[in-house]
Amino acid sequence: METTAAFAGLSCTDCGAAFDARASTADAATHRCPDCGGILDPEYDYDAVDLAREDLQARPFDGLWRYEELLPLPREAAVTMNEGTTPLVECPALADELGVARLLIKDEGHNPTGSFKDRGATLAVSAAAEHGASDVALPTAGNAGQAAAAYAARAGLDAHVFVPSRASFVTKAMINVHGGEMTVVEGRFADAADAYADAAESNDWYSVGSFVTPYRHEGKKTMYYEIAEQLDWAAPDRIVYPTGGGVGLVGMYKAARELRRLGFVDELPGMYAAQSAGCAPIVEAVEGGRSRHDPWETPDTICGGIEIPDPGASPLIVDAIAESDGGAVATPDEAILDAAITVAQHAGIEMGATCAAAASGAWELAERGEFDAGDTVVLVNTAAGNKEDDVLRSHLMGRGV
Ligand SMILES: [Zn+2]
Repeated sequence: METTAAFAGLSCTDCGAAFDARASTADAATHRCPDCGGILDPEYDYDAVDLAREDLQARPFDGLWRYEELLPLPREAAVTMNEGTTPLVECPALADELGVARLLIKDEGHNPTGSFKDRGATLAVSAAAEHGASDVALPTAGNAGQAAAAYAARAGLDAHVFVPSRASFVTKAMINVHGGEMTVVEGRFADAADAYADAAESNDWYSVGSFVTPYRHEGKKTMYYEIAEQLDWAAPDRIVYPTGGGVGLVGMYKAARELRRLGFVDELPGMYAAQSAGCAPIVEAVEGGRSRHDPWETPDTICGGIEIPDPGASPLIVDAIAESDGGAVATPDEAILDAAITVAQHAGIEMGATCAAAASGAWELAERGEFDAGDTVVLVNTAAGNKEDDVLRSHLMGRGV
C-alpha cells in the first residue's frame, strides 16, 4: 500500500500491539487486530508531519484529501469525488433559542452521496483498492451502503451490501443504481449484520464495515479538521453528534487531539453523544459510569441510522466523552422529529430525521443547563434531509399540518 510520510502503521486499541499496514509484508494487518480481534487505529509519527496552518490556508477548500499529510494514503492514491469540505453554517436564530453565543451546523448533506459516510468510504475503498481487493462488502443501516456502492463503482470494484428492510428507499435505490449487489434482510440492523457475517464466511470479501476496517473512522476525523479550520483554528466548546456506532465521534476526537498535538488548536471540544431514547446504549453506559455499554435489548426508534443496539466501539466513545468533559443525552423520537422540523423552519437547513437527534439532544442539554451563554456549539448533520423526507413529512402530517 502506498502510504504518506508520517503514517506509522496500525495499533490495537485493546491490546496495544502495533502492525505494519502494508499488506505485502508478513506482519501486516488490514482489518481487526490479528492478536486479539480488537479495533485497529492508524498511527502517525507527528514529528514527521510536514504541515502548518498556513499550508492549509493556502490550499483550495476542495475535499478532505487536502489534509493528506494526516491521512494514511496520499491523495494520488485516493478513490475520491472531492467529498468533505462541507459548510459550517451559522444559525443565529437557533443560537438564541438555545441561549448560546453561536450555534453552527456542520452540514454533511453536501457530500457526493448525501451523507458523511462518504468520508469513511473514500478512505476505506482507497485502502481496499491499494490492497488489491476485488470485492468490498458491509452490513449497513443504509447510508454507508450507498456510499460504499458509489466508491466501489468508481474504483471498479464489486460491492456487496446487506441492508435491513427498513432502510430508506433512497439508499436502497441508489445502491442498485451504483451497481452494488444488495441483500435486503427482513428486520433491523442487527439482522442485516448477522446475514452479512454468514455470507462473509464463504466469500473472499474485503470488509469496509465500521471499526472492522481501520480506515472508516480515520476518514471521519476530517470533519473536525474542517470545523477547526472553519472556526479560524479554534475548538468549538461543544460538538453534539447523533450517535449510533459512534464512528464520527471517535474520529473527530482523535482529530481534536491531533490538532492540539500539532499546535494548530489549543483546546479540545466537549464531545456529546446524542441518541434516541428508543436505543441509547451509550447514554446508559455514561450515566451508569461504565466504560462500555450493555447491548440494548429491544431497539425501537424511527431513526434507523442510529439504531445500533450493540456498538462495538463503545469503550472508545465513552473514553472520548469522559476525556473531553462532554456528555451523552437521549431524547424521544417525537422530540427528534420535532427538532428536524424546527431546524428546517427556523434555519432552513434540511436535517436527516436520524441526524436531528443532535438538535433535540442539544435542546435537552441546554434545558439541563449544560451549556454556557458564551458557548460555541456545533451540531453535526450527518446526512441530507431528503434521505428521510418521507419520515419528516409523515411526522408533519401527524401534527395536522
Ligand atoms: Zn489487539
